[in-house]
Amino acid sequence: MQRILIVEDEPDVAFGLTEDLTRHGYETQVATDGDAGLQLGQTGAFDLILLDLMLPHRDGFEVCRELRRRNVATPIILLTAKTHEAEKVLGLELGADDYVTKPFSPRELRARIKARLRQPAAAAPARVLRFGNNELDLFSAQLRIAGVTVALTPTEYRLLKVFAGNAGRVLSRQQVIDSAWDPGTFVTDRVVDTHVWSLRKKIEANPSEPRFLHVVRGIGYRFDV
Ligand code: CA
Repeated sequence: MQRILIVEDEPDVAFGLTEDLTRHGYETQVATDGDAGLQLGQTGAFDLILLDLMLPHRDGFEVCRELRRRNVATPIILLTAKTHEAEKVLGLELGADDYVTKPFSPRELRARIKARLRQPAAAAPARVLRFGNNELDLFSAQLRIAGVTVALTPTEYRLLKVFAGNAGRVLSRQQVIDSAWDPGTFVTDRVVDTHVWSLRKKIEANPSEPRFLHVVRGIGYRFDV
């Protein structure tokens, strides 16, 4: 069941929202001021936050800004009483995802909620790319071959990241160059081959009979994991 935090100080509005959303299968909780909204919002226990702007203690802008500052990524829909364009823009700049203007129809709000909940949260970036018994750690930029750290040059690191990140795909030399070198850098095929060869010597038990990094004749490379 998806959980929605309602940050709203007007009892009638909070009650109406709770009724409607509960009836439509959501689990809800109400915070009646900005402080409570911030506290509950940052628990990460909610799939979405409905945030009124005019609130006691802390207004909705502040709650929104503070949640984003604390890296809370929960979708936020602002409930704005006024139709001031500047207010909406400010809200979105502070990290809100959407807004509805009061008075809103429950149906419209539910449509907005649904739309927000449908969008998958940004996938957490891969931290480690694995191939065989080896790992390329993208945080520390370290290559571990069967658990032993092996030093890579910056170019070798970028190449391996491109290859291991596109495992199974045939990449042309140009695609490799575009991904592993800065834009505008002039790189010849020979330079690519040289770096690929030195990378191979580090990751392959037998560089002449590669298990991972294969040349696809006339096209480019393919990396198998
Ligand atoms: Ca209010």
